[in-house]
Amino acid sequence: MARISQRIASISESPTLAVTAKARALRGAGHDVIGFGAGEPDFPTPEYIVAAAAEACANPVYHKYSPAAGLPELRSAVAEKTTRDSGFPVAPGQVLITNGGKHSVFAAFATLVDDGDEVLLPAPYWVTYPEAIRLAGGTPVVVNAGVDQGFRVTVEDLDAAWTPRTKLLVFVSPSNPSGAVYPPDEIEAIGRWAAEKGIWVLSDEIYEYLVYGDSVFTSMATVVPELRDRFVIVNGVAKSHAMTGWRVGWMVAPEDVIKGASNLQSHSTSNVNNVAQVATIAALRGSMETVESMRQAFDRRRQLMFRMLEGIEGVRVSEPQGAFYAFPSLEAFLNRPLHGKIASSTTELAESVLEEALVAFVPGEAFGAPGYARFSYALADEQIETGINRLAEFLTG
Ligand code: PMP
Repeated sequence: MARISQRIASISESPTLAVTAKARALRGAGHDVIGFGAGEPDFPTPEYIVAAAAEACANPVYHKYSPAAGLPELRSAVAEKTTRDSGFPVAPGQVLITNGGKHSVFAAFATLVDDGDEVLLPAPYWVTYPEAIRLAGGTPVVVNAGVDQGFRVTVEDLDAAWTPRTKLLVFVSPSNPSGAVYPPDEIEAIGRWAAEKGIWVLSDEIYEYLVYGDSVFTSMATVVPELRDRFVIVNGVAKSHAMTGWRVGWMVAPEDVIKGASNLQSHSTSNVNNVAQVATIAALRGSMETVESMRQAFDRRRQLMFRMLEGIEGVRVSEPQGAFYAFPSLEAFLNRPLHGKIASSTTELAESVLEEALVAFVPGEAFGAPGYARFSYALADEQIETGINRLAEFLTG
């Protein structure tokens, strides 16, 4: 009998975390590595949030177990915030507080997907999705959208991949890794199609505030009310409030789904850390000024990154419109000699670039998009400049 279960043996380490770890190890060994791998803001958590957490630490109420589904005040704050930002009425009983948005992704699939159910997954996709779908017994059905269609799937693409076994569509806008933001009319068309087919939609809204230029964030259930009974939102404060390490996210769904997912949570993690939940109440009830100032910094870096990547001969890149990632195609540099080596995949190219140019990025294979590469621009302007210059020199020098 195998030591490790087949279910667990079939999943691999998160490639984004692996790249970050390798870059950190090189840095630890004294190398000056510029890391474009990490998917997190470089800012500290705003002071007013940290202060609320410090106060909660000293309050004995928060030293004890609390309700598995989340502190009632936080569930209310999330309901209010969702009603305001996603644009349709949400009650506290439709909210589950989880250990980060990632945990909501797992909880949603565990609650909705049965063995053999198919889940439509537009690619490029965030690395956790296919693994979480498989762990729930489902089958990810990948629907590809490359740079030529702005990394956005159409109703026709989805319809061609649909079968009677399709249970759910994963929809992420703004997108990690592509930085694409769907315009409202496309969101409405996809939502109407999903409603007609009677399938569920999991809408990952974790980058909702990080949109730039003319792009706007639209929650699908706002423009397609008939979808609301089969609509699940995944969200959290990690990206918006620079709180990746606090591990607070949430799921918003119809009450029966939240009840099922709360039962699961009551037997797995119980309540999320109370201090982090109190910090999140402060984040959600606080002013949006700090969120907006971080957004402006990302916007500036986005433009710098895009201009620099666009300037490298052979790189194909579309202007990112949301989140904090650029997703260029590096296909022109594969299968030809480069500094004495021939890379046949972006994974191999990423290894050479890390070892020789000391620049870390995540290869597109990790996101179901071979030939592409993800560069986070959530780092200081000077680092972006130095890093992309080094990359350019390596690729074209
Ligand atoms: N969804 C997407 C699309 C993400 O990029 C991430 C973080 N990389 C998450 C969800 C989860 O974030 P967290 O668990 O840190 O809240």
